[in-house]
Amino acid sequence: MIVLDGCALASGETGHVAFEGDRIVSAGTGDPPDGTRIDASGCLATPGLVNCHHHLYQWATRGLAQQATLFEWLVELYPTWARIDADIERAAARAGLASLLLSGCTTASDHHYVFPRDAGDLLEVEIEAARELGIRFYPCRGSMDLGKSDGGLPPDSVVEDRDEILTACSEATDRWHDPSPGAMLRIALAPCSPFSVTRDLMRECAALARARGVRLHTHMAETVEEEQFCQELFGMRPVEYLEDVGWLGDDVWLAHCVHLNEREVSRFGETRTGVAHCPSSNARLGAGIAPVVPLVRAGAPVGLGVDGAASAEHGELAGELRQALLFARLAGGPAAITAREALDLGTIHGARCLGWDDELGKLEPGSLADIVLWRLDDLDHAGIEDPVAALVLGARPLADRVFVGGREVVRGGELLTADVEEIARDLAAMRLVPA
Ligand SMILES: [Zn+2]
Repeated sequence: MIVLDGCALASGETGHVAFEGDRIVSAGTGDPPDGTRIDASGCLATPGLVNCHHHLYQWATRGLAQQATLFEWLVELYPTWARIDADIERAAARAGLASLLLSGCTTASDHHYVFPRDAGDLLEVEIEAARELGIRFYPCRGSMDLGKSDGGLPPDSVVEDRDEILTACSEATDRWHDPSPGAMLRIALAPCSPFSVTRDLMRECAALARARGVRLHTHMAETVEEEQFCQELFGMRPVEYLEDVGWLGDDVWLAHCVHLNEREVSRFGETRTGVAHCPSSNARLGAGIAPVVPLVRAGAPVGLGVDGAASAEHGELAGELRQALLFARLAGGPAAITAREALDLGTIHGARCLGWDDELGKLEPGSLADIVLWRLDDLDHAGIEDPVAALVLGARPLADRVFVGGREVVRGGELLTADVEEIARDLAAMRLVPA
């Protein structure tokens, strides 16, 4: 038994979190159980953050197309992404996952949808990186089958054949998906977006996922241009299209959802469809502000995502708590959301998006011991009245200790499972630039 003692809790009180093996045994203000005591005074303990949307490979293509809209940015970057291979994927995935762990993220989803021929098994590469670093991982087997010659946005060189995609999705599920409690690896299926995927692939992926009991993920309603594209290609709004292909439901979570009308917000709530809110990426691309508070009020889970680092130039999740709160208040005023509600987006709501809230996103007996101790006694945070305000409204604190399933992977803000300087050198050597 390990006892993190003397830490602040999200209630604002001082207490402890105790765990044995990969499970939390007790948490609260009562007497801590006997065990190996770790002095956690000066820290706030929270559940590990859950990242609901990412494209790890994009770590190798940051700093490009800086003033572009989403579609301009994609069209500029697709040809560069077509050149990724296993070495680039490995470097990018290790960098992206290290950055997540160091910012208090213990469960990471990734949406990988670029599979150049002869590039090797890029999904396997990122799964190996996650195992090496010790993060709980939820990769999505992404796909694109609607190339430019068929009316899609991506060049034909980066799309795959539909039958090959479905076979690859089926094989990835067989090989990697672990539905058992405490799993370190689960798989979802994730056709990329309405403008890069055929209607048939959307329908068939949904049928395959439901037959196999895995979840569905895609991009949705990110920009005004996407809305126009769907009107032209499908004769309907993006969410109408999504509903038409059977993609609203409690086994689905969707990235962005910036441009929703009131009826669509209600449908998300009624169907318990999840949303991965990516405020920094939305701001970088000037996409707009997602209706996070109305979605939560309607009953939809709204988790947070860093999105691919090529549309934010960073991939640390704790900062998104602050960005989400600031955006919600810009949209709805200072009372729109509290610091604790913003923390919930990054923890329990994220766990709900991944269908994993029975074990993740909370510090309760029986939950997985995915725990972060945030340092709040430093220059930036000492003396802030409320520890949750210090975490969410203040500067991003040091994630002093990070535990994943009871295993310590960060101590003193340093990654214990890999050499960060080596990861940075490798990434710089592997970065992809436009041809
Ligand atoms: Zn994305």
